[in-house]
Amino acid sequence: MTKIPVGVLGATGIVGQQYIALLADHPWFEVRYAAASPRSAGKKYAEATAGRRHFADHVYTNIGDLVVRDANDVSQAIAAAKAGDCAFVFSALDMGKDEIRSLEEAYAAAGIPVVSNASAHRWTADVPMLIAEVNPDHADIIPIQRKNRGWDKGFIAVKPNCSIQSYMTPIRALLNAGYEVTRLMVTTLQAVSGAGYPGVPSLDIIDNIVPYIGGEEEKSEREPLKILGEVKGNAIESASLPRISAFCNRTPVTDGHIACISLEFGAKKPSIEEVKGIWTAFTALPQELDLPMAPKRPIIVREEADRPQPRKDRDADKAMAVSVGRIRPCNVFDLRFVGLSHNTVRGAAGGGILNAELLKAKGYL
Ligand code: NAP
Repeated sequence: MTKIPVGVLGATGIVGQQYIALLADHPWFEVRYAAASPRSAGKKYAEATAGRRHFADHVYTNIGDLVVRDANDVSQAIAAAKAGDCAFVFSALDMGKDEIRSLEEAYAAAGIPVVSNASAHRWTADVPMLIAEVNPDHADIIPIQRKNRGWDKGFIAVKPNCSIQSYMTPIRALLNAGYEVTRLMVTTLQAVSGAGYPGVPSLDIIDNIVPYIGGEEEKSEREPLKILGEVKGNAIESASLPRISAFCNRTPVTDGHIACISLEFGAKKPSIEEVKGIWTAFTALPQELDLPMAPKRPIIVREEADRPQPRKDRDADKAMAVSVGRIRPCNVFDLRFVGLSHNTVRGAAGGGILNAELLKAKGYL
């Protein structure tokens, strides 16, 4: 199969480099266009990332000589698209929300689909916010989005926040099994790589926990409702439940976000053994389609008393599986558990690639 040429916007950042690493051997996609800030533009990729590479040297072998472009200059991507080097872009930009919103729209308007990690378009009513196993049907708003905006080939699809990944798939599995989730309390312990590079100053985080991540609690409380919502008319209508209360903490872990969850069911309540069975058996459209980035088992149930742990469990099944453990009754709500997912893979680049695979399988790319 001839590989589809793709671009990465923000290719020099933590998530951008994770894209480069994951796409180095991807069976469908090949990175042929890289863009970042004007600071990196015009440099070879190897030079632009010198001193701030996050992976082993071999990851950069095929891309080192690629000249990085200015992501703000859409005309360069259009030229690359015309030359057959950029069929769509992954967006891993970190800049002002308004700037990202209009830039992503400019790419889509130019006929270049955008599969984004940024939060700028998460609340745009006709933009799907996808976790491939949880709401793949939301991708079907893309024809409506194109019609709303007069775009022919371009569109924007986004991924939600990295901190909610470890419990959204378990919640989807419970909903599919007929159990309503009415309230949810979550406390996250989030890795430093979630803050980008160089991120949190080392003197603030070593031997410490920072009980505040700007905007994260609001995202954790709202984004699940859009994801669990429905496509209605020209927009995605958010669900009204569960009501969510979140605490988000930054911890001195490199990769892997933990979430400690207590949740309440509606009138019908499953036993702990049923919950474990539902999670172990859960598969969804990405597994049915056998998409390359999809984990075989989206949810891995750990029975050990002290798992999941970031160092031991974040890389499970290509770092795309969510690990859950400490599953037991809750004294206040009904069920409590600990979830873990790899924030820059499942929660960022890997999740973005899986979304692109889903969009390709559905015929949108
Ligand atoms: P990062 O390491 O700070 O990388 C930011 C990227 O954006 C770099 O490539 C940078 O280019 C580029 N950039 C910065 N200012 C720019 C400008 N004015 N014009 C064009 N490009 C510019 O951030 P990150 O952690 O990779 O995050 C990237 C995006 O993914 C963010 O929107 C973030 O919210 C989202 N996200 C991150 C994670 C995570 O775990 N880190 C998870 C989910 C979502 P230069 O190198 O040239 O400065």
